[in-house]
Amino acid sequence: MGKAEGQVLVKAENLKRYFRVEAGLFSRGKARWVHAVDGVNLHIRKKEIFGLVGESGCGKTTVGKLFLGLERPTSGSVYFDGVDISKLSREELRKLRREMGIVYQHPQSSLNPRMLIEETLRRPIEIHKLAKNEQEKKRMILDVLDEVGIERYLLERYPHELSGGQQQRIAIARILLLNPKFIVLDEPTSALDVLVQAHVLNILSNLHEKFGFSYLFISHDLDVVEHISDRMAVMYVGKIVELARKKDLRRRAMHPYTRSLLAAVPIPDPRKKMKKREILRGEVPSAISPPRGCRFHPRCPHAMDICRKKEPKFKDVGGGHYVACYLFKSSR
Ligand code: SF4
Repeated sequence: MGKAEGQVLVKAENLKRYFRVEAGLFSRGKARWVHAVDGVNLHIRKKEIFGLVGESGCGKTTVGKLFLGLERPTSGSVYFDGVDISKLSREELRKLRREMGIVYQHPQSSLNPRMLIEETLRRPIEIHKLAKNEQEKKRMILDVLDEVGIERYLLERYPHELSGGQQQRIAIARILLLNPKFIVLDEPTSALDVLVQAHVLNILSNLHEKFGFSYLFISHDLDVVEHISDRMAVMYVGKIVELARKKDLRRRAMHPYTRSLLAAVPIPDPRKKMKKREILRGEVPSAISPPRGCRFHPRCPHAMDICRKKEPKFKDVGGGHYVACYLFKSSR
């Protein structure tokens, strides 16, 4: 059985997360809400790398936090290994979180600047009582350093003495110690230069091969997401607009927004023809008052009357490919 057909590990059902905005001078005291995540349905299978791509502010980071129980949904559910995490008590959720981890874009924000790297790695082992004795603790730290390709002398350094790539690998190592089933990678390579980015992506791929975690890989960079993922979804103003296997998305991108993202990715081989560029008008709309109907209609070169009135359904167009657009018919 291929990864694409494997068992589901994490599942979101009609997931919504709205954030209240303080009433401003011109809002006449009425509460306003940011519709950060607005009806997301998706699942990630065991051992799958699922890519979530979209522009900054589209809600993808909030999806990652909802999946880990770091945010509570406004409505809808998240299931982890069949358990509805929104129904768990704080203590139950804390226990479950051992099976999950998150790597942020800026590792320095998750590493304590006053702790030596050795202490940073020692802490989770002690908190979760993962080692029987000092010798085992030491061995676990050295093993995990080898897994992420960090030299041992760096254990005696503070985070600020490490490069961005080394800091990110320490952040990954700290998660590995807990032997999780699921890791959210939130723009893990965006703050790194291109060479270091490729190195960290290779480490993540190798760890996935070796340990079989499921990843949710979040990025604004479609090229990076495509490089590492099995399946991918494209998000726009709180909604998923297209989801497919990565090769399918490249060959048969349907949604005009996906097509515009793909056309913006530079093609290294000049002999290959550029895809016909979908011209995008205007700016990304505000998630406080998203457009009626299809949220993409103010920018879409194919917008029709119905697009302005009624939201398109997320349709199955065959082969595990889904799209929310009136230009395409359901295969069912
Ligand atoms: Fe464009 Fe209409 Fe499709 Fe939305 S539903 S992407 S506006 S054609």
